[in-house]
Amino acid sequence: MLTIKNLNAWYGTSHILQNVSLEVQRGEVVSLLGRNGAGKTTTIKSVMGLLKKTSGEVSFKGVNLLGLAAHQRFGLGLAYVPEERRIVPGMTVLENLRLGIVASGKMAQEKDIIDRIAETFPRLKERLGQTAVTMSGGEQQMLAIARATAADPDMILLDEPSEGIMPVLVDEMFELFQQLKRQGKTILLVEQSVEAALGISDRAYVLDQGGIVYTERADAMLADPEIQERYCAV
Ligand code: ATP
Repeated sequence: MLTIKNLNAWYGTSHILQNVSLEVQRGEVVSLLGRNGAGKTTTIKSVMGLLKKTSGEVSFKGVNLLGLAAHQRFGLGLAYVPEERRIVPGMTVLENLRLGIVASGKMAQEKDIIDRIAETFPRLKERLGQTAVTMSGGEQQMLAIARATAADPDMILLDEPSEGIMPVLVDEMFELFQQLKRQGKTILLVEQSVEAALGISDRAYVLDQGGIVYTERADAMLADPEIQERYCAV
């Protein structure tokens, strides 16, 4: 579904990504792991069209993405939940969700979309009228993820969703990702919680200093603490 071949990316004159190649098949959950500064966020931002200078090939559902604006990529069925959640703190949960629905142009189906989200995210269902800023960090992250699913995307790119969130909500969040997978969503997950990420993934890639240095099935990697230590210890 997503194919990246020989992706290079720069910030100014710094050459950050060097010939990154990876693939995510339809219905797969794939983790992108690596130490701080390895290039994980840069890879995701390149896929979403948020970097000024990139080269190589990035295709989604057979469509070449490089050259398309970020909103056009979103329109193809790609959703992105950035590290900084970017929900609107002064708006209610429902109003934030409506923003996602408006962005996807599906206003006519608003009621059905809200019902579907409420079913998938029971924690939000109880809080539709609550102002987003009054929710915990984990609940705000759930809202950011829920809003990203409002457009019913085929694929979701998640950048460190568990960062700074209390453990009980992290468990709930990973259960939610499994549920999204069961609904047929394809997921590319950037995570520092390596074990949790591998626990719900089919496969994983490891980035180090801007290049892919390792790829393996998630269950095999989960059973190999030495590999996790070598490539992913912060
Ligand atoms: P983390 O887990 O810390 O978020 P990461 O693997 O996501 O790490 P990136 O954020 O992709 O890493 O950063 C890769 C490299 O690019 C780092 O060396 C970082 O300093 C550099 N970098 C990131 N953003 C910028 C920027 N806006 N301008 C210049 N350099 C940047």
